[in-house]
Amino acid sequence: MDSLNNLIWHDGKFLGVQWSVWKVVGWLGNAVFFSRFFVQWYATEKLKRVVVPTAFWWLSLAGSLLLLSYALFYQRDSVFIFAYAFTWIPYIRNLIIHRRHAAAHLACSQCAKVCPPHSNYCFSCGARIDAALTAKTALGIGAQRSSAARS
Ligand SMILES: [Zn+2]
Repeated sequence: MDSLNNLIWHDGKFLGVQWSVWKVVGWLGNAVFFSRFFVQWYATEKLKRVVVPTAFWWLSLAGSLLLLSYALFYQRDSVFIFAYAFTWIPYIRNLIIHRRHAAAHLACSQCAKVCPPHSNYCFSCGARIDAALTAKTALGIGAQRSSAARS
């Protein structure tokens, strides 16, 4: 028990790390950035095909920004700073593309099921989908339009 305690706390260090606010920021960045791997793996196993959920890009963005701030304000190492200086660009771009794709889904005017973008027919009831009448389902507009089309 004493040796285990010595392993956790030793020379005023917890787990061998001399902790400070920036050490917490850095390790939090590591944890957030690493956790995206489990999110992507879970989503892939669940659907039995390779998928990259939106949460993956949010975790990538948050983790890389935490690590960038750690590199900029604590580490002040050019190699470490450069490693995280530009990674946020593709993460934000992928989040924008995810959002646009979700917003492009179409709601069926007959059954109100949400269909993939560019659908000509509803996958559920087979009704013809008029993209000009139904759009922006992810933002909640399509469902209102489809109910208005029925009346
Ligand atoms: Zn339908």
